[in-house]
Amino acid sequence: MACSVTLTLLLLLLLLTPCLGRSTTVSKSERPSVIIVGAGISGISAAVALARAGVHDVLILEATDSVGGRIHRKRFAGHQIEVGANWIQGVHGEKMNPIWQMAEKLHLKTFFSDYSNISSNTYSQSGVLYERSVVEQALKVSEKVVEDGGIYSHSLPSDGHEDISILGFQRIKKHAPATPLEMAVDYYTNDYESAEPPRVTSLQGTLPIRTFTDFGEDDYFVADERGFESLVHHLVNQSLDTDSIKLNQVVRSINQSRNGVTVTTENGSHYRADYVMVSVSIGVLQTDSIKFHPQLPQSKFSAICQLDMAVFTKIFLKFPYKFWPDRNKTEFFLYASERRGYYTIWQELEKELPGANVLLVVVTDDEAKRIELQPDESTKAEAMQVLKNMFGKKIPEATDIFVARWWTNRFFRGSFSNWPIGLHSHDFNRIKEPFGRIFFTGEHTSRLYNGYVHGAYLAGVDSANKLVQRIKKMERAKS
Ligand SMILES: Cc1cc2nc3c(=O)[nH]c(=O)nc-3n(C[C@H](O)[C@H](O)[C@H](O)COP(=O)(O)OP(=O)(O)OC[C@H]3O[C@@H](n4cnc5c(N)ncnc54)[C@H](O)[C@@H]3O)c2cc1C
Repeated sequence: MACSVTLTLLLLLLLLTPCLGRSTTVSKSERPSVIIVGAGISGISAAVALARAGVHDVLILEATDSVGGRIHRKRFAGHQIEVGANWIQGVHGEKMNPIWQMAEKLHLKTFFSDYSNISSNTYSQSGVLYERSVVEQALKVSEKVVEDGGIYSHSLPSDGHEDISILGFQRIKKHAPATPLEMAVDYYTNDYESAEPPRVTSLQGTLPIRTFTDFGEDDYFVADERGFESLVHHLVNQSLDTDSIKLNQVVRSINQSRNGVTVTTENGSHYRADYVMVSVSIGVLQTDSIKFHPQLPQSKFSAICQLDMAVFTKIFLKFPYKFWPDRNKTEFFLYASERRGYYTIWQELEKELPGANVLLVVVTDDEAKRIELQPDESTKAEAMQVLKNMFGKKIPEATDIFVARWWTNRFFRGSFSNWPIGLHSHDFNRIKEPFGRIFFTGEHTSRLYNGYVHGAYLAGVDSANKLVQRIKKMERAKS
């Protein structure tokens, strides 16, 4: 027995012993120490943390033609819009959100999102404005259930075996949103944050929302000509060589052996390194677009498959002139449809893009998938009908529409991870566990802040630190 344990340890050591000591002198193009798959904020923050720890020979392979991943701006009808992450969430709390810190340093143009006016701007399906006090009461009830859910969550055993869904907890509290107004408010309180309905979302995995309890309750909307992605570019410029990032490199397979890893791309290129760090989204990991040899352990792959990749679709509409009222400091308005989650949450972008007459509406989950699959003209017709229901038939036609399609994009397969009921914390931890020479990062590996930009950033730093520890351990074992 002792003999076979020694043999196993020896084999493991052989498989893991890296060439880091010498690879610091090996040029990137020959054989870097580390290959990072994906140049989203997590992959980039991992590269920066590695560089700061003295691991400079890193190569980043990115499938698309740009850096930033799900932080991405686009030109729309002459304006700059953010098609992915838009808000810096969790600001003005006890801890400093690292993304807010960077944004302040870069003087990124941001706008406080004032959701308080929602209660004055909630419309029924027939265009009747709800009484402010009625909406306020519905919001108060819904938010109290979320607050109580956070307290209840703490009282449950930490292994998660008594976890329930948010819906389960709503039932415990005898809270059963059923009217169009109650459903709209329930959607705003839950789905707008997690992009999945309460029946899917785990209470213990999501409440209390640590982003807000740690970093603060405020959200700031980024509307800067340089884009939210300029923050990622800043990280690159600060610490990385531009030739350490290769764009348009779609990784198809990762082979590991006792000598290192070989990463093969769609165009047939092979890259060798001592380690690889995979930062692609959980949605991509769930498909077989990247093949691992040997295969990922069944327990790890099954954990990967249990975490949800939620779909949060942003639809931008431009109009020839502003027709919606601004009597109630309109920034956000709600549409209370009989169909839950049907074009419910609207935002005017007058503060951010003055005079642009652009509205943003968010849809999620099944509704988002349905909309991603249909032609934009059909989406425009649906959105126009909703706006006519709210503001009357005489409103002008939208001149332009943009529907962000993250779910059908093979490099993302959705918008951000959401913790579903049934996923235990030991499974969640398995997702980021290294497999031999393969390390993992990305927003979906952040235990406290999964789904968010700061979660992705912090996960990158954390995974890089773990890799540095491994490298040092192997160096010690060699000497
Ligand atoms: C519509 C939308 C709205 C959002 N809103 C917010 C918000 O307001 N606030 C907030 O904090 N968060 C928000 N998020 C979430 C936030 O954007 C993400 O959590 C974060 O950007 C994820 O970063 P990441 O580095 O983990 O992953 P990604 O940004 O997905 O980076 C992974 C990279 O891997 C690349 N890749 C994929 N497959 C391959 C392959 N085979 N080979 C090579 N490269 C590959 C991808 O192209 C990508 O660049 C939103 C996301 C979306 C989509």
